[in-house]
Amino acid sequence: MTQGPTYGFDTLQIHAGARPDPATGARQVPIYQTTAYVFRDADHAAALFNLQEVGYIYSRLTNPTVAALQERIATLEGGAGAVCCSSGHAAQIMALFPLMGPGLNIVASSRLYGGTITQFSQTFKRFGWSAKFVDFDDLAAVKAAIDDNTRAIFGETIANPGGYVTDLPALAAIADAAGIPLIVDNTSATPYLCRPIEHGATLVVHSTTKYLTGNGTVTGGCVVDSGKFNWSASDKFPSLSAPEPAYHGLRFHETFGSLAYTFHSIAIGLRDLGMTMNPQAAHYTLMGIETLSLRMDKHVANAKRVAEWLENDPRVDYVTYAGLKSSPYHKRVGSICPKGAGALFTFAVKGGYKACVKLVDSLEIFSHVANLGDARSLVIHSASTTHRQLTVEQQRAAGAAPEVVRLSIGIEDADDLIADLDQALAKATA
Ligand SMILES: *Cc1c(COP(=O)(O)O)cnc(C)c1O
Repeated sequence: MTQGPTYGFDTLQIHAGARPDPATGARQVPIYQTTAYVFRDADHAAALFNLQEVGYIYSRLTNPTVAALQERIATLEGGAGAVCCSSGHAAQIMALFPLMGPGLNIVASSRLYGGTITQFSQTFKRFGWSAKFVDFDDLAAVKAAIDDNTRAIFGETIANPGGYVTDLPALAAIADAAGIPLIVDNTSATPYLCRPIEHGATLVVHSTTKYLTGNGTVTGGCVVDSGKFNWSASDKFPSLSAPEPAYHGLRFHETFGSLAYTFHSIAIGLRDLGMTMNPQAAHYTLMGIETLSLRMDKHVANAKRVAEWLENDPRVDYVTYAGLKSSPYHKRVGSICPKGAGALFTFAVKGGYKACVKLVDSLEIFSHVANLGDARSLVIHSASTTHRQLTVEQQRAAGAAPEVVRLSIGIEDADDLIADLDQALAKATA
C-alpha cells in the first residue's frame, strides 16, 4: 500500500511493507524460500553489484519476505529504513559495526538485558571495542563518560529486567552535543508503546524474538535508522562518510543520503558478517506484528493488575513496575510511553534468593524460561540464570538483585496469573 502519515498504527501494523504479490496476487506476503534471483541480463547484474540499481541478488543480502518485514518495522518506528538480522544480539553488532573500530567505545546503560551486558563487556574486546557502563539516571555521569573515541550512546527504552523507563530526550540531547548517535533497544516497549526516533534516537534496535513476533517461535533482530544523522559532519564515521574501496570509492552518505546507513548495513554488514534473517522467521514475525497493538494493550493491562496485587501482598518487599503510582519512573511513563510501561518488571520476595528459587519452581502457569515478550507469562530468577555471570554489585546495578524475580506478563486472564502467584508465594515463604 502507499504510505502516508494519515494511516494509524493499527492499519500500518497489518499493511505496511505488504502488497499483493506481483506474480500471483497472493494477498498475504509469500515466503520467498529462495537463495538466489535470476538477473535479467549481464547489464542488470552489473548494475545490482555496483549498487546503481536496487534489486535482489542473493538472500544473504536481501529477500522479498524479509524486505516486507523491514519496511513494516521501519514504518512503525518512523524510520527511513531497516535491516533485519538473525537475532537481537546480531542486530546489536550490526547496529554498531558501521560506527566502530579498534580502540573505539560506546557509553551504555548499566541497566540492560543481561546478555547485552555480557556481549558488550566480554565479546566486544575481541573486536577491540569497549563499553563504559553508566547509570543513565545520572546524566552528568553519561556526559563525563563520553570521550574522543566514543561513537554511540546505547540504552533500552524500558530497561531490563526492572522495567525502568529511560529519559530518551535527555540522552538524545547529550548525544547531539557530542556529535554521536543515540542507539535505543526498543524491544521491551515496541513501537506501539514508544517510538524512540520521535524522542531523538538515531538508531533503534530490536530483538524481534520478543513482542514483535509475540508467540515465542523464532529469533530475529532489526536495526532501524532514523535517516536523520549527519554522518559527514565529522571524521568520526568514515564507513559512512569516506570512500568505500569495495564499491569503487563510493561514499555511502553522499550517495544515498538518508538511506546511507541502511544501504551500508546491507551492502557491507550483511554481505560480510552474514547475520541474515531467514524468510521463514520473517514470515512468523510479519504474522505476529499484525496483532501487536492488541497484544500490547492486554500485556499492559495485565501487568498493571498483577503489579498492583503484588505491591499490596505482605510476602512481597517491593515491585519495580514503572506503571505503579509508587514508582519513581511513573511520571516519565507519561511522556516516554503514555500507552503503558510495558509488561516486564521485577519484585522482591521476602526470604531472598532461596524463596525466589522456590517460587519459580512452584509456579504453574508462568513458564520458567530465559525469554520475555511471549503471549505466555514467563518468570525467571535473573541472579541464578541470565545475570549469573555478573558480580552481585553488577547484578544490583542491573536491577537483578539476588532477592528479585522477573516477570514477563502474558495475555492470559489476569485473575489466573494472580491466583498462580498467590499459591507459589505461599509455598516460597512457608
Ligand atoms: C532478548 C533481548 C535481546 C537479545 O535478543 P535475541 O533475539 O535473544 O538475540 C536484546 N535486548 C533485549 C532487551 C532483549 O529482550
